Amino acid sequence: MNLAAGLKRLVLGPEEKPIPNLNRNDRCWCGSGRKYKTCHQAEDDRKRAAERATSKGRPAVSLKRGF
Ligand SMILES: [Zn+2]
Repeated sequence: MNLAAGLKRLVLGPEEKPIPNLNRNDRCWCGSGRKYKTCHQAEDDRKRAAERATSKGRPAVSLKRGF
């Protein structure tokens, strides 16, 4: 059992997968055999942008608030 991973999953939510950092010309992580730039790169970029936007003002996880 990996407690740290479980905690991380609790904090980040179960549906969030880490987005791999691939070069545009690498084969995509999804296994389609296509280049990353022609496959999931646009989608991943969108996800990254959304993550950045939500993690800024995320109200659920506030470690500095204290209690
Ligand atoms: Zn893909």
